[in-house]
Amino acid sequence: MSEAAAIIDVHQHVDWIGRDKAGLIDYLDSVGVGTCWLHSWEEVDGGLDYAYQHLSIRQVFETFEKYPDRIIPFAGVDCRRENPERLLREYKARGARGYGEIKWRISYDSWDAIRMFRLAGQLGMPVTVHIQYPATKMPDWWYGGHIRAFERAVKLCPDTIFLGHAQSWWTHISGDADPEKLDVSYPPGPVTPGGDVPRLLATYPNLYGDLSGGSGLNALTRDPAFGKKFLVEFADKVCYGVDNYDDRLITFIKGCNLPADVYAKIMGGNARKIMPV
Ligand SMILES: [Zn+2]
Repeated sequence: MSEAAAIIDVHQHVDWIGRDKAGLIDYLDSVGVGTCWLHSWEEVDGGLDYAYQHLSIRQVFETFEKYPDRIIPFAGVDCRRENPERLLREYKARGARGYGEIKWRISYDSWDAIRMFRLAGQLGMPVTVHIQYPATKMPDWWYGGHIRAFERAVKLCPDTIFLGHAQSWWTHISGDADPEKLDVSYPPGPVTPGGDVPRLLATYPNLYGDLSGGSGLNALTRDPAFGKKFLVEFADKVCYGVDNYDDRLITFIKGCNLPADVYAKIMGGNARKIMPV
């Protein structure tokens, strides 16, 4: 397998911040990435959120049908829709391989969510969740609830593979993360011991970290020596992903000069283990 074919980006979107379907493929080519997990974003109450952009499952499938060798489709059916189980089974039958992006304004340990996470596990679909706490200026803009609520979901669904993602998940790489003080989405400076993210990744075999977004990049680069150590320590538990269209994360990871086996796991090996192609 060539290096480009081997690299998997576990977090992409289409028709999003200026990239249409061909634009997404051009981007993957430009950074040397073979395939991507392509996520929808579906919220039944999305209209309440000024930042919401409905990224439909239909758009994901249209892209998959056009570029079947490059796209691994996800279907993030909102658990509050009517008959969500039936819908997820239907999308699975049409070729969906994962359940995401889960980015809903409910606590992820609610029973509506747990029921769907368990079904995703039965169907062999990994679940990617976005966790974001409210900021004082935008008190209604939050997703998923507290990281401990997510931990309960991971514990309640041992047969489901989860990937943690976004600002407030990665803030907890550091022991001093404070949910009451999260107007800083991308905290700078040294990482202190005792973070929930290292604890959770070490504790739960069904949990992984999705390095995408400004949040994954910030978690690794705020304290680069720690970032490199973290990648080596959790080489079996974190996956390369971008969630936008830049090359900052791949540049940082390449610059770490990681052992070859660590690099290969993070850049595609773990994704292939989670979801055999
Ligand atoms: Zn996303």
